[in-house]
Amino acid sequence: MARLTKEQYIESLRKLNLKVYMFGELIENPIEHPIIRPSLNAIAMTYEMAGKPEHEDVMTAISHLSGRRVNRFTHIHQSTDDLRNKVKMLRLLGQNTACCFQRCVGMDAINSTYSTTYEIDKAHGTNYHRLFTEYLEYIQDTDYVIDGAMTDPKGDRSKSPSQQSDPDMYLRVVERREDGVVVRGAKAHQTGMVNSHEVMVMPTRALKPEDKDWAIAFSIPTDSEGITIIYGRQSCDLRKLEEDADVDLGNKEFGGHETLVIFDDVFVPNDRIFLNGETEFAGILVERFAGYHRQSYGGCKVGVGDVLIGAAALAAEYNGANKASHIKDKLIEMTHLNETLYCCGIACSSEGKPTDAGNYQIDMLMANVCKQNVTRFPYEISRLAEDIAGGLMVTMPSEKDFKNPDIAPYLEKYLKGIDGASTENRMRILRLVENLTLGTAAVGYRTESMHGAGPPQAQRIMIARQGNIEGKKSFAKKIARIKD
Ligand code: SF4
Ligand code: FE
Repeated sequence: MARLTKEQYIESLRKLNLKVYMFGELIENPIEHPIIRPSLNAIAMTYEMAGKPEHEDVMTAISHLSGRRVNRFTHIHQSTDDLRNKVKMLRLLGQNTACCFQRCVGMDAINSTYSTTYEIDKAHGTNYHRLFTEYLEYIQDTDYVIDGAMTDPKGDRSKSPSQQSDPDMYLRVVERREDGVVVRGAKAHQTGMVNSHEVMVMPTRALKPEDKDWAIAFSIPTDSEGITIIYGRQSCDLRKLEEDADVDLGNKEFGGHETLVIFDDVFVPNDRIFLNGETEFAGILVERFAGYHRQSYGGCKVGVGDVLIGAAALAAEYNGANKASHIKDKLIEMTHLNETLYCCGIACSSEGKPTDAGNYQIDMLMANVCKQNVTRFPYEISRLAEDIAGGLMVTMPSEKDFKNPDIAPYLEKYLKGIDGASTENRMRILRLVENLTLGTAAVGYRTESMHGAGPPQAQRIMIARQGNIEGKKSFAKKIARIKD
């Protein structure tokens, strides 16, 4: 099959028989659900943009397996150019959706699994890499979306998986059969699960030999028997259910989604297992996946940041504050912070190196620095956007008030800014800032900036490990002419 169009992607989702719950009810038709649909539209952009000739270079790549052009989200990075183009692709999509478009987790999962399976086979004489490569061909051929599933619920954080009072707090193998394994557990914060065809499960931490049953990686269809998806709430999500909701949504068309996914004795066939008991490789897989996803944030969050900076600039323009020097300076500061994140994304890509399997990996230290900055800068960019937007962003009446003839004239008159800018447009832009900083998109832009791809402390551990303090000490000693 060739690459899918946006319409074909949406049609392909209709074939899935997902078990999704939201607000305590089983959802019959997730595709048309008003709360879920914007998140589907966001992933659909990864197909739509890939079909545009002007974006072909960043949105697609030539598969090293088939030699055919594939969507970059299914591609295994073959060079530093590929790594940079990935970051550019994510920025482009962030600019065009202003939310989390969800598909990157699967891309980062396949790239980390590709090199790790190669190394497991070398160490253990297993056959995971061939199986994984065949699976990859299938994904490139179908142009499917993979949900990358790493985060376990983790229970008591002071205990390892095998020490937990409830062993299901980390997803594990509960039965080993001739033809595969049966797994039980859950994966939390699952981005885009309802819009994905496949779910690729990986361990969430480094494991010890006694944690063998928790050392499992595999990929299966999202509608496999035993999988239950519980949809996460987002701030202001009910606005999407309001009749004719538009202006108040801030971003009507796009959004992200997060879910809790339960695996209740799910069967995984042998040809879909890519790690099974080789505990010493769990940490390597986690580190690689996290590294790629920390690079990703130097693209996607920057694209969303571009929208927020633009919205803040328009808010200032609409109320006539745009010429004030402090407003100009705040926009400069926001741009500086946003481009710093992009610099990190591009830098860790440019310094990428080939793995033993031949695919390219980002520079780990720089990728962790990138994500550490992402845990801070979007907060400062949001603070400055709220500063520029003013209090009206959170005191503004609803769009229904603007439609009530008794009060609409008052609102039109008193909420107007400069001549030449409509009150409605002013409202639209303030609602967009609200959506990005406090509403549904704030999940993707703010809290996900903190916790997605690992919380700040996870990067600090990696920075400590990769920072080469000993090397730095030797530079200092040499300059200070210290002889040990
Ligand atoms: Fe992609 Fe960013 Fe969403 Fe992660 S947070 S899935 S990198 S858009
Ligand atoms: Fe994320």
